Amino acid sequence: MLFENTIIGPIRSRRLGNSLGINLLPLKRKFCTYDCIYCECGWNKDTIENKVELPTYDDVKQQLEKRINELKAEGVVVDSFTFAGNGEPTLHPDFVRVVDLVVEMRDKHYPNAVITLLTNATQLCKPEIYDALQKLDNPVLKLDAGMEVMRNSINKPTSEKYSFEELVENLIRFGSKGIIQTLLLRGTNEGKVISNVSEEDFTEYLNLLKKIRPKYVMLYAIDRATPEKDLEKLTVDELEFYAEKIRNEGVDVKVYG
Ligand code: SF4
Repeated sequence: MLFENTIIGPIRSRRLGNSLGINLLPLKRKFCTYDCIYCECGWNKDTIENKVELPTYDDVKQQLEKRINELKAEGVVVDSFTFAGNGEPTLHPDFVRVVDLVVEMRDKHYPNAVITLLTNATQLCKPEIYDALQKLDNPVLKLDAGMEVMRNSINKPTSEKYSFEELVENLIRFGSKGIIQTLLLRGTNEGKVISNVSEEDFTEYLNLLKKIRPKYVMLYAIDRATPEKDLEKLTVDELEFYAEKIRNEGVDVKVYG
């Protein structure tokens, strides 16, 4: 399901409080460098025929200002400005400028709010994106597997240029300034068994976390309808079981079951 607006909410979120979403992606198609088997926006192919129409910097500015003015008039407090939406936010050509705009608006209107970005981290290789992410309170970086073959099966990168090796290098470079987000699952896709909690993959994943040393890890299970139907939602107890393994490596973790 696609988000139908550029500015979304605020939506009440367990981890972010009152979260005002900023969707820098098209409204009629998904636009991402991954095609995750669990993506709530569906498969890339389902909307690929629609044009990539991105909101301009001026659109975002005007809509954000309007929504903030409405919320302030209603006495609504925003706890997080959250970049998320129909794909990968860092693909927007004015992403860096928009980050500066959101920082400015946050400082002016809701100085206690945090700025959160949900990203698949494939664009961290670009220095300007890497630097922009440093300005955010919560850069949340996706890492769903310990090995390339499992990353490719779960996240289905749209190009070979999004190599796992480079992704991991960038996550290590970002280190404790980033939060790692991981969705744990089991299932099948295209006749292949998929599991990022297999002993082999999860062991490698723990090894990567020891090298990345993130601020903390967010562990998730599937929450909504997924494009691949043959996926199993892990229970909270299972998430806690894997969270404990992460804690045992000296890395903080929060569980969202
Ligand atoms: S990175 Fe996010 S938006 Fe892109 S396919 Fe995966 S879940 Fe969907």
